[in-house]
Amino acid sequence: MNKVAIVTGGGRGIGAATSIMLSGQGYAVCVNYLKNKAAADAVATHIIEAGGRAMVFQADVSVESEVHSLFEATRKRLGKVTHLVNNAGILYTQSVFTDISAERFQKVLNANVMSAFLCSKAFINQAEGAGAIVNVSSAAARTGAPFEYIDYATSKGAMDSMTKGLALELADRSIRVNGVRPGFIHTDMHADGGEPGRVERLAPQIPLKRGGTPEEVAQAITWLLSDEASYVTGSFIDIAGGR
Ligand code: NAP
Repeated sequence: MNKVAIVTGGGRGIGAATSIMLSGQGYAVCVNYLKNKAAADAVATHIIEAGGRAMVFQADVSVESEVHSLFEATRKRLGKVTHLVNNAGILYTQSVFTDISAERFQKVLNANVMSAFLCSKAFINQAEGAGAIVNVSSAAARTGAPFEYIDYATSKGAMDSMTKGLALELADRSIRVNGVRPGFIHTDMHADGGEPGRVERLAPQIPLKRGGTPEEVAQAITWLLSDEASYVTGSFIDIAGGR
């Protein structure tokens, strides 16, 4: 089987680690990005220099026409898409609920849930035979992220519901759908949320007493996509140091 994966937001953080790890497992990888072309190019170069197959593609995955272009370009360059990682996501500055504007709430839901909806739909419409999707949710789906990002937590809760429902709808087509729920992982995302040192600050509250690495999340994503997880669908792996 020619394994072809799209990793949304594959240029940085968890997406970058996942793109590189999937390539090591024999996947051809489309590294999608929104703004940071240099980071996506660096991931693709890394893969190609190690003997793998990769391409980069700029697309805002919350916009249907751009998702269509992403899948079309990947099919032409690498082949039919067999695996999908819905990883792209954003959060804004830590705020209490009443300080979250309607505009921000809408933007977060678009970037985090609409993107997974559109990419999953595009994936299913072109899929032939078995395949797998992994949705990158968050421990925030369980905690609700009070006083920080209830908008973000809401988007991840919605993603978990979609994972469950879609897994059941697609089971008889042998397309598996699972989720990972990372906790505090060392990536740029916390700086976007207004506190670059957030993981270090919260480490003492984490049972394992440290933040996680993007590679530790990528390990779980790669396993869920693989045939080793052939009897796993509609499931979630918490990668949150015991939180
Ligand atoms: P990150 O380093 O900030 O990377 C986010 C990636 O998403 C970037 O590559 C960005 O593209 C891409 N992106 C954002 N909006 C996009 C859009 N509309 N279209 C296409 N790409 C888009 O974040 P990360 O920490 O690796 O997060 C990856 C996923 O893990 C997210 O879904 C996040 O919610 C989840 N997560 C992270 C943590 C954590 O502690 N870090 C915890 C739980 C869950 P550009 O590079 O072009 O900007």
